This record gives sequence, structure tokens and C-alpha cells, in this order.
Amino acid sequence: MSTGHINITGKTKVLAILGDPVEHSLSPPMHNGEFDRLNLDYVYIPAGVKAEELEACVRGLAAAGVVGFNVTIPHKQNIMKYLTEISPEAQKIGAVNTVKIVDGVLHGYNTDAPGWVEDIQQDILLERNTLCMIGAGGAARAVAVGALLAGISRLFIVGRNLEKIKALAESLMLEFPEKEIAVRALDDPDAGNFVGESNILVNCTPVGMESNPGIPIPAEWLREHHYVYDTIYVPAETELMKATRQAGGAVRGGLGMLARQGALAFKIWTGIEPDVERMETTLRRTLS
Ligand code: NAP
Repeated sequence: MSTGHINITGKTKVLAILGDPVEHSLSPPMHNGEFDRLNLDYVYIPAGVKAEELEACVRGLAAAGVVGFNVTIPHKQNIMKYLTEISPEAQKIGAVNTVKIVDGVLHGYNTDAPGWVEDIQQDILLERNTLCMIGAGGAARAVAVGALLAGISRLFIVGRNLEKIKALAESLMLEFPEKEIAVRALDDPDAGNFVGESNILVNCTPVGMESNPGIPIPAEWLREHHYVYDTIYVPAETELMKATRQAGGAVRGGLGMLARQGALAFKIWTGIEPDVERMETTLRRTLS
């Protein structure tokens, strides 16, 4: 696979992804492939950074004149305290995944939420729909804020830990007081009704990944009217997606979200619109 950067010079602009672990990140081939194809003199490198080294790493990158970086697990919240400016959307989500450094000033953004909104809206408009989200972690928060900003009328959250889903709902209600937001624990007898009343379901748990097989909700809850977005992208078709198809519903997996958050970050750093379909193809090829 081409990295496109056998000709790194003193002028090459540097980008990075900070995470722990970062070895399996698909972002370096996705961005470097696109820099190569657009003939842009940038390089994107992985940087495994421990939580206790994050501040030193960020200061060092800024001092070294790096253009910007992505932030992934576990740093998406902690990074915020080292930034000078944070976009209103990232503030609502409470997480930053993209940083641009301009004259030593660090600007933080969240491209996960708009990336997911762009991807799902290829199939279905969010406005005035009822969306039920499974899970209450980082991806769930980005999906919730993205969906609420895009105009869904009702948000249901189901999850295994009632305290955590309640806490997420309460913080979202502060940001979106005009919206109907309700929660049910997965073992609540009413949780299946929540799912039944929703037309869009989004899996924001790792249940269904190759390393975490299974289905996050009982397959009997799935119906023909359901559109299911699974944020998981390995495997390409999860058990939840299979069961939804069998029930007559429609599905989409999470690879497009990954490509679109990357494309939005690319544009923030370079000012150039990349070819998002080509970035998704690069991801697919890297995975295979
Ligand atoms: P996270 O912050 O750790 O949150 C995971 C959530 O899933 C938590 O609410 C957790 O419940 C819940 N959960 C975990 N195991 C569960 C189980 N067995 N049954 C029910 N709920 C369970 O992780 P994250 O960063 O949000 O990532 C979640 C998923 O989103 C991952 O699969 C990841 O691949 C995907 N993702 C995709 C993209 C993309 O670009 N496509 C981007 C980000 C994330 P508790 O709160 O009780 O712990």
C-alpha cells in the first residue's frame, strides 16, 4: 500500500493521531492515501501517547510546528483542557477528536458527530424522526448531539447501566431543553416498547465487534419499520445488522462515519475537500 511519503522533505507538513493504543488505527493509511492522490505535501503519523504524557506531547507538537492532529481513545475528553479554543459543537459533545494549530494556538473540533450525521443522512433524514440509541459512551454522545442538532424530535437511550444513561440524558437535556429525551435500562420490561416506537436505531456499544460478538438488543425487538445504523465497522455486517435485515428493516455499518469524520478533519487542516468515497475505499482496502 502506498504511503505517498517516501519524499518527505523539510517542507512537508506533519499531522498525527494521538491515542493509546494506536497501532490498529486506520487513519494513517486513509489520510496518507488521500494526500498522495491529491499531491499534497503532508504526512500523517501514529503517536502512541499515555494519558500522563498527553500534555507534554501536545506542547511538543505545537512547539514543533505541527499542523494538527486527531485524538482518539482515551484522550478525547482530556485533550480539551490543553486547547485554546473549542468549537460550540465539540463543547456540547464534551469531546474533541480534531485539533488544528495556527500560530501556536490550538483549536479543537469534533468531526465524529457531523461525520455520522452526513453518513446516515445518505439513507434517511434525521429531522422529525424518533431515534433510539443503545449505549452511553463517547460514540453515543457524539451521535446524540449530532442527531439533536440535525433536528430529531425524540431521543430514546437504552443501556445496561441506568445511572450512566440517566446522566447522559440529563446533560443532553441541559443543552437541548426543547427536545424529548427519555431512558430505559435494557432489562426494563418497557425497553422493547422504546425500540418499537423508534424508527431509527443506532448501536453505540462495542457489542457485535469481532472481539465482542453478540447482539446489543434482543432480535425479537426488531421490525420492518426499523432503520439500524451500527457504528461498528469490523465486521462489515454485525449480528444486529443481520437480524434487522431478517426482520425486513434497513441497515448501514459504521465505516462511512469513520471516512466522513476523517474527511471533515482533512478539510479543517488543509482547506481542501478530499474525496470521501475514495477515503472509504482506502479504509475498506486496508481492512481487507
Ligand atoms: P465507550 O465510551 O467505551 O462506550 C461504550 C458503551 O457501550 C457504554 O455505554 C457501555 O456501557 C456500552 N456497553 C459496552 N459493553 C456492553 C454490553 N455488553 N452490553 C450493553 N452495553 C455495553 O466506547 P465508544 O468510544 O463510545 O465506542 C462504542 C462503539 O462505537 C465501538 O464499537 C466503536 O467501534 C464505535 N465507534 C465507531 C466510530 C466510527 O467512526 N464508526 C467512532 C467511534 C466509535 P456502560 O456505560 O455500562 O459501560
